[in-house]
Amino acid sequence: MSTGSFEGKAVLVTGGGSGIGQAAARQFAAAGADVLVADVDDAGARSTVESIRSAGGSADHQCADVSDEAQVEALVARAVDRFGGLDCAFNNAGVSAPRTPLAEMSVSEWDRLIRVNLTSVFLCMRAELRHMTAHGGGAIVNTASTAGLRPPPGVGAYAASKHGVVGLTKTAAGEHAGGPVRVNAICPGGTDTPLLRASIGRDADVGARWASRPMSTADDVAAAALWLCSDAARSVSGVALVVDRGAMFA
Ligand code: ADP
Repeated sequence: MSTGSFEGKAVLVTGGGSGIGQAAARQFAAAGADVLVADVDDAGARSTVESIRSAGGSADHQCADVSDEAQVEALVARAVDRFGGLDCAFNNAGVSAPRTPLAEMSVSEWDRLIRVNLTSVFLCMRAELRHMTAHGGGAIVNTASTAGLRPPPGVGAYAASKHGVVGLTKTAAGEHAGGPVRVNAICPGGTDTPLLRASIGRDADVGARWASRPMSTADDVAAAALWLCSDAARSVSGVALVVDRGAMFA
């Protein structure tokens, strides 16, 4: 995949303090972008920014909870203010949960997953689309999951939230079809990040499942997100790009 240069582009990465978001923030910066790294974990966001700056890149951090409307509005305004615009947004912040059959799932667990994984993407896209449509266009990539296409048992709230991300992505792509804003999703399978490591650590079944299945690295998944944001993908909008080394069909 060739992603070319992001020189002079302002990029927002949410969940940039860890895992896929951190890898993407570093790759965008290495390709010349000015990157605003947002995360509810401020220490994580700061460490991503430090690593980018020490490699000679341009980045700043913002502590933000992407499930909060006012904080999301302020976040997009900060990106525009800090770097003079917003060309690309990678809406990637998210959480997982222990496996729970639907019959045993609490409403609070359901609400948490939907709010952090799905409502957040609606809030981020709404603010980003308003800016991008008024200022010449842009590219948005949302992090869904293979569980947003073909869920395993026990991840009902997570799967519903990620199916929702795929649906929102396609809706936005259709609303902007033929226009200067493109909207896509990536659907990572097993990715070797703190999120999956935590699931493996607390659930032996998850550990057994991933012992025999291919995993991607955070850099592999980030590279797909960069490609979707790049001019090389200028005709691509509304896709849910699976990045799982074929595991969905294995
Ligand atoms: P992944 O496998 O998706 O990369 P990680 O757990 O490594 O998983 O990264 C997800 C990132 O999203 C973490 O840095 C986490 O702090 C961040 N995050 C989780 N919830 C929120 C939230 N409500 N607002 C902003 N960032 C969040």
